[in-house]
Amino acid sequence: MTMSWEQFEATLQRSEEFQTFVADFREIIGDILARDPDSAIDEHIIASRSNLIDENSALDLLVMLEREHLLKTLLFWPCANGYGTSREASKAKDFPTFIECDRCGETHEFDQDCIEVRFVASDELVNSLRR
Ligand SMILES: [Zn+2]
Repeated sequence: MTMSWEQFEATLQRSEEFQTFVADFREIIGDILARDPDSAIDEHIIASRSNLIDENSALDLLVMLEREHLLKTLLFWPCANGYGTSREASKAKDFPTFIECDRCGETHEFDQDCIEVRFVASDELVNSLRR
């Protein structure tokens, strides 16, 4: 069972820690997804757009949405030479041990510590924010 955005908001409204963030969080997520429903969202993006929500709270909120299946995690393997994302996958075990990098042409070895986690919206989330 997937929780609706409305149910998620109602849960946040009851939480002392998160109730002050609800309006901001909705506006930021809604704005990002209105521009591109496939956007990869992370705590840095949320915190940089908000005067209220810091990165730790943003990550908490994103993880809560992921737990309710309103967001899915997407893992990014950045090029070791700084040329952007070499590969993305939904699970760490989907990455090979070595990749020939499309960005720089070199071969990189997988390193779990370098993997960046971002979140993409489920259809349910995109639809419920459109309403
Ligand atoms: Zn590379």
